[in-house]
Amino acid sequence: MEQDLEDFRAETRTWLEANAPPSVRDSEDAVVDAMMAGGSPGGDLDLWRRRIGEKGWGAPTWPAAYGGGGLSAGEARVLAEEMRRLGVANPIVGMGTSMFGPTLLEYGTEDQKKRHIPPIVRGELRWCQGYSEPGAGSDLAALSTKCEDAGDHWRINGQKIWTSGAQYADWCFCLVRTDPGRKHDGISFVLIDMHQSGVETRPIKLIAGSSPFCETFFTDARVEKNDMVGPLNGGWTIGKRLLQHERAGQGGGRLMGGGTPLPELAEAYIGRDADGRIDDVDLRVRMIANRIDAGAHGLTIQRAANEARGNQNPSAATSIMKNSGTRIGQDRAELTLEIMGHQGLGWQGEGFTSEELAAVRGWLSGKAWTIFGGSQEIQNNIISKRILGLPDPLGQSSR
Ligand SMILES: Cc1cc2nc3c(=O)[nH]c(=O)nc-3n(C[C@H](O)[C@H](O)[C@H](O)COP(=O)(O)OP(=O)(O)OC[C@H]3O[C@@H](n4cnc5c(N)ncnc54)[C@H](O)[C@@H]3O)c2cc1C
Repeated sequence: MEQDLEDFRAETRTWLEANAPPSVRDSEDAVVDAMMAGGSPGGDLDLWRRRIGEKGWGAPTWPAAYGGGGLSAGEARVLAEEMRRLGVANPIVGMGTSMFGPTLLEYGTEDQKKRHIPPIVRGELRWCQGYSEPGAGSDLAALSTKCEDAGDHWRINGQKIWTSGAQYADWCFCLVRTDPGRKHDGISFVLIDMHQSGVETRPIKLIAGSSPFCETFFTDARVEKNDMVGPLNGGWTIGKRLLQHERAGQGGGRLMGGGTPLPELAEAYIGRDADGRIDDVDLRVRMIANRIDAGAHGLTIQRAANEARGNQNPSAATSIMKNSGTRIGQDRAELTLEIMGHQGLGWQGEGFTSEELAAVRGWLSGKAWTIFGGSQEIQNNIISKRILGLPDPLGQSSR
């Protein structure tokens, strides 16, 4: 077994060396950022996306029958290690691989998997999430976007909001109301082609200056009959599973940092005392606490992954990881600004380095981390009800 993995490591190393263009190496964050932004990145990044997509390694453990890598968990770990060694990131990112794909693999029909999974694996199509509405955020089951039977198709009318990446998306996985008389049991899960006249997106600007999300309007939008996932009025269970995949991603490492390590920043902006320590005792203590929290969080994620071997599906525990990971990330963003002092408060102009400008925008966008995917309070409700088994004082069943 170990020998098999070592053989696989050698093959993987050879393949990566031959196929990852030199310009995409040692730039993991830049690759992911470019792929998350709208439009096509072009050049070597597109070449890398095509090569790894055809190999199926953008979704390494998904079944080969749908274009995935078909790798075992051990092989996928080796692949990740070898990619890290070379400094290359997986360019096939977004809601298709992180949220929708795994959900469709669990709940979709054979036909739906054959049509929708391969383009996700190849990174050809972008997906967005049509859950929240002006009147349905935390109480998601209050959603009212209407889906009616129009004979040979489903007809959709209504409005979604905060739809991340809707302006670039090719498809939307969407929760819709199919029975106005029942709350949770009157919701279905449908797939909407965003390239049709019945769909309009209007970008909303975030406090950090970018427009990563939209208001999304459906006016007699068309959904094919074979693009309802699961049974009519059976969308709530599927929608909740997808949220677990979403939170599993949000509790991971990316929101917690990247960029220059805090001790290096502190040394540059604050300096050291006579004993060689960062010259601010209070800041030092909080930096160490953040480092310990991040380390403990990483180990907990690793332990949970080991314990879950054989059961690839996420659980309510993703709510713990989401709350913990996003809080650590927000603390880190706060510490970064504090270390930079007034240099960390620039919005634009030559008086600031690009890292300083990114710091203030990162701090502002970090405010969203404890809101999207279900707010921090809603995760606490889930933890208390589904993990600790405490009674629900409001008798609500939110997100
Ligand atoms: C950057 C960003 C990207 C997003 N992307 C998407 C997306 O792609 N698709 C999508 O569908 N949605 C998306 N969202 C929406 C997000 O899921 C909602 O904003 C979130 O679920 C909260 O809903 P709300 O904004 O309506 O707030 P509300 O539900 O109105 O909540 C307001 C406040 O009340 C608290 N609250 C509400 N109910 C309770 C309760 N029962 N117990 C305790 N406290 C409660 C909340 O915690 C919050 O602090 C995104 C949001 C952001 C910020």
